[in-house]
Amino acid sequence: MFRTLQSRLWLTYVVLILTVLSILAVGIFVYVVRHPVVDRQTLQQLDVTSRVIKRLFEQGKFRNTITQRRIENLSEQFAMRIMIFDVEGREIFDSDQGAGEFNWRRLQSSIPGRGLIRDDHNQTWLFTTQKLRPDNTLFLAAPRQGGLSFLRSPQFREVLRDEFLPPFIRAGAAALVLALILAYGMSRWISSPISDITHAARKVTEGEYHAIDPQGPSEVRSLTRTFNEMLHQVQTSQQSQQDFVANVSHELKTPLTSIQGFAQAMIDGTVTDVEDMRQSARVIQDEAQRMYRLVLDLLELARYDAGTVQLDRTNVDLEQLLVQTMDKLSLQADQKGITLLREVAHLPLYHGDPDRLSQVFSNMIDNAIKYTPSGGEVKVTGKVLQDRVEIGIVDTGQGIPAHEMERIFDRFYQVDKSRGHDQDPSSGLGLAIAREIVQTHGGSIHVRSEPEGGSQFLVYLPLTHAVGVDRDE
Ligand code: ADP
Repeated sequence: MFRTLQSRLWLTYVVLILTVLSILAVGIFVYVVRHPVVDRQTLQQLDVTSRVIKRLFEQGKFRNTITQRRIENLSEQFAMRIMIFDVEGREIFDSDQGAGEFNWRRLQSSIPGRGLIRDDHNQTWLFTTQKLRPDNTLFLAAPRQGGLSFLRSPQFREVLRDEFLPPFIRAGAAALVLALILAYGMSRWISSPISDITHAARKVTEGEYHAIDPQGPSEVRSLTRTFNEMLHQVQTSQQSQQDFVANVSHELKTPLTSIQGFAQAMIDGTVTDVEDMRQSARVIQDEAQRMYRLVLDLLELARYDAGTVQLDRTNVDLEQLLVQTMDKLSLQADQKGITLLREVAHLPLYHGDPDRLSQVFSNMIDNAIKYTPSGGEVKVTGKVLQDRVEIGIVDTGQGIPAHEMERIFDRFYQVDKSRGHDQDPSSGLGLAIAREIVQTHGGSIHVRSEPEGGSQFLVYLPLTHAVGVDRDE
């Protein structure tokens, strides 16, 4: 009972409506108590009676004892006191001789008029006064019940039954029905998109990813949009995890197959010659080495993912670092007939991890040599921009197709997988690691390329980590 959001919202509205109706009823009740309707009725009765008596008086019938008797009857019948005063305030007639006396001055001030007055017995009266020709005053009064005693009076019950309750009950019922319908619609409007999200979330556990159309109030719509984003991320990350496992298995399987084959040949005795044995053992060692490097790369990436990589920062002379890296790769470039060029301006000392930065530049220069045909050119540039250092590795190689540029930093991604692993130990992890290293330094890597027009890799390192002392000083 009332466990769901919709039923609770609905219940809230019902309680709210009932509360408003109760407050309204109490308000009207208080109004009735403070301005009793009964007083209004009594005053009307006093007015009517006073007009009748005035007429009798003016027709001169008052002196008639039968008329006086009739007036006394009226007084008894309507429980009102009828008095006539002369100009001095002396009583000419009083229907209730024994009752309390009134202050003549107070009465005089309200002729003709109506209101409330207290007698010398402290009884409160509702009264009307009016002039009688020639100089007399007619005073009619009815006792007013104190406190809430009027609630017991039949007039009050009559007013309550005929005037107050029927419209209140009708309006209240109509308001309640209308509000319940509105409340139902409103609670559905809020809760149904949330039910959709719950349904969609349940489907995710079954492996189905369905985005939801944002509906309902803005908070719920924003929740839906966030849910959709999360859904997309979960889907992407699950996909990339699956790809990752498939890639790792593939990358490990290739050298393992090779190792297994050569080892088997040695055990079977297929390879008997000492030189062949040595050759097989070398292949096994190379493949094991390749697997080892792959595992090291994966562990390194896992550390970046976990955020546990600690940079070993010192003051790095970037130009010298670039020269050393290029020197290491110069033989490789020479062998391939590629010219290595350097165009590096004065760079400030940079506070970074030299080994990791060298790994970045080495990977990029190595790629540039690898993907540039013989006779081409690889240029390393370096300059200081406003708030960062820019290192560029520009080649005249095959370039990267526009639609691949975003993906070359993904793990295991290689533009041309078919290039194979024969002599090439590349696995598609180099740029992924390079990006992690640069980002951990607070920088970024960008690539520009034209098909067949070479590639340009740009590494930006923020100058907040520059030491600010020029190397030449
Ligand atoms: P790999 O070990 O295959 O070089 P990387 O992560 O270093 O892996 O590079 C990913 C892919 O990006 C490469 O396989 C290659 O297709 C592409 N690539 C990287 N650098 C260049 C370049 N200078 N010219 C053309 N393609 C490049």
